[in-house]
Amino acid sequence: MAERSQPPAVGLGPRCAERLSLLGVTHIFPATLPDPFPSSSSLTSNYVSSVYPYNPVFKKTLNTDTKWQEVDDNFKLCLESNKKWAGETAKADAAFFPTSSKGQSPPILWLGCSDSRVPETTLLGMKPGDVFTHRNIANIMHATDLSSLSVIYFAVAHLGVKHIVLCGHTSCGGVAGALGNDKLGLLDVWLQPLRELREKHADELAKLEGAEKTTYLSELNVKAGVEVLRRNPTVIDAMKERDLKVHGVIYDLASGTLREIACEEHETTGSNRVAAFERK
Ligand SMILES: [Zn+2]
Repeated sequence: MAERSQPPAVGLGPRCAERLSLLGVTHIFPATLPDPFPSSSSLTSNYVSSVYPYNPVFKKTLNTDTKWQEVDDNFKLCLESNKKWAGETAKADAAFFPTSSKGQSPPILWLGCSDSRVPETTLLGMKPGDVFTHRNIANIMHATDLSSLSVIYFAVAHLGVKHIVLCGHTSCGGVAGALGNDKLGLLDVWLQPLRELREKHADELAKLEGAEKTTYLSELNVKAGVEVLRRNPTVIDAMKERDLKVHGVIYDLASGTLREIACEEHETTGSNRVAAFERK
């Protein structure tokens, strides 16, 4: 995959740019400034090929002969790419879009990070309609977050998903931010559960360095998120009534693979949880 150029964040002070880079943000596109992506034919062409080499709907490589190198605007690139994808998909299966427009019955609810490198449907090799999704920064499960609660309620109570998959990932910018001590503005509030995990597991984390430390906190975050889900009343009811499964996984950016995280609980812990959270 061709490397995109990495110009520094523009229009920002060095301190702000440094903080954003902690979260993996290296590009800012103010409308009044030129697009930092060079529009040379090779770069744009490689960029498109790297993003759309594969159609997950039909498990085949797309023909990327469109003269996208002539597109020098990223939004135009999106529209052109979409038109091509829709055309290829309809050509391969004329019934796909008519069927898709009638409704959805996804078996999986995916709760993941907003990170652009972890697109659930793509990395699962699935197709539109297979995965209902909620993503937020660092895949944090706040017990009272209205957005994730609404998604979980609709997916579990109305769509009847069979599995909930909570996915963290390696090199997560949100996790790295919680392991640092910079002021991150609003994100300091959002990341609070991660900082609490950092505090609670300080001794274990102190023995680790670099990527190992970040990945370990990502794993702790997934385990904590699974516990939050197991205390969600909608999830509790579905686990009891129809054996809904809740899974925790870590996505490895370097290999593209998922690794299941052991989230089992001691029998006594489980029964205590059920007793405390059950409603009749
Ligand atoms: Zn992340």
